[in-house]
Amino acid sequence: MVKKKTAREVNAELRRSHRPESIVSTYGYDPQRSEGSLIPPIFLSSTFVFPSAEEGERSFRIAYHLTRSRKPAIPSLIYTRLNNPNLEIVEDRLTLFETGTEAAAVFSSGMAAISTTILALVRAGESILYSSPVYGGSDYLFEHLLPRMGIHTVAFAAGAGGDAIRGLLEREAKAGHPPALVFIETPANPTCTLTDIGEARSAVDAFSRRNRKPVYLAIDNTFLGPMWQHPAELGAHLVLYSATKFIGGHSDVVAGAVLGSRALVEDQVKVARTIFGTVPSPFDAYLLMRSLDTLKMRMTAQLKNARHVAQWLLRQPQVAEVRYPGLLKDGDPQKAIYDRQCLEPGSMISFYVKGGKKEAFRVLNSLKLIKLAVSLGSTKTLAEHPATMTHSDLDPKERRRLGIDDRMIRLSIGTEHYQDIIADLREAFAQR
Ligand SMILES: *Cc1c(COP(=O)(O)O)cnc(C)c1O
Repeated sequence: MVKKKTAREVNAELRRSHRPESIVSTYGYDPQRSEGSLIPPIFLSSTFVFPSAEEGERSFRIAYHLTRSRKPAIPSLIYTRLNNPNLEIVEDRLTLFETGTEAAAVFSSGMAAISTTILALVRAGESILYSSPVYGGSDYLFEHLLPRMGIHTVAFAAGAGGDAIRGLLEREAKAGHPPALVFIETPANPTCTLTDIGEARSAVDAFSRRNRKPVYLAIDNTFLGPMWQHPAELGAHLVLYSATKFIGGHSDVVAGAVLGSRALVEDQVKVARTIFGTVPSPFDAYLLMRSLDTLKMRMTAQLKNARHVAQWLLRQPQVAEVRYPGLLKDGDPQKAIYDRQCLEPGSMISFYVKGGKKEAFRVLNSLKLIKLAVSLGSTKTLAEHPATMTHSDLDPKERRRLGIDDRMIRLSIGTEHYQDIIADLREAFAQR
């Protein structure tokens, strides 16, 4: 008799033989288990019926990691804070895009993903190194909330090399705060500065070997991922997302995701998620799943538009400087990092208008097609003023040092026709 393949074996075969976009809309879901429905139903149920008491016992033992078995065991569905079909489908599908990862966990927001991961892996008395600038919410977490819990946090400049990171790890260890995590956002928001992921991993490994202490490297890949940068292939232990951005892509859902090895994601991050309760709703997981079908299409269209817009901005007399990874020149150390780790430059552009806040605000107030809003990665082109909006809670001196001044405008390019985006900017620049 031919042995029937398990769902896991079928999935592994599909992944080997197909590209992500070819299987993302069917992967990890069997229509025959849901009345033949082509699209997975939304399982709003908070709790699930066990077929027997024995199965209930077995499932809890797996979910709470009470079994010693090395074989990966799959528990029955229990309760939506622990597991739910809509969450599991979108998690399986996310791993298709994130090459080099085995497992994913989705969250109720990007900040839920970041804070749950940190609280799962770092203890009081230990330290975290983080690149700066980072997303405003992450900055607040590192600057204010984690120190209150006895976790030491140390910022280093985005773009720092392996030696600088290694030096800081040794310094923290000597100061009696053993490092547990290096957190890097690359490209950095909103300056687009790149930090070398491979070098950071080498620094972490060198430190870990010498001190016999595991230190994890976590990359916030929101700006380029999951299409244009694969941090796990470059050495990241964990890849983090605000899924609100490109993954959700329609400005209609707030969510987060973490990807990595099964051991880290299933055994550590998901256990913390269950207890902190930072799961997304089944409906939000459904929205993310729906969005993944068009992820490549959207991000490719956004990329093409952004290349045109960045080139156009470069030629405008009203523009002092454009920050876009696609404009980096050979000989610039940032270009060498770009070539090592980015597949494409993405669709986030920051530029400086000539003048100051008055000139920047005049442009922002004159836009019509482009909407004045924070957030990014949506099908709609959005513009914002980092110094007074997303990065307004940074110390003003620090903000200026990072290059986030009153002249800077950040654009997230959408899927409109690029000539219409450019025409809107041209009209806004012409306002006097
Ligand atoms: C938006 C964002 C976050 C936070 O995500 P939320 O979904 O808003 O909680 C974290 N990192 C980066 C780079 C972001 O852009």
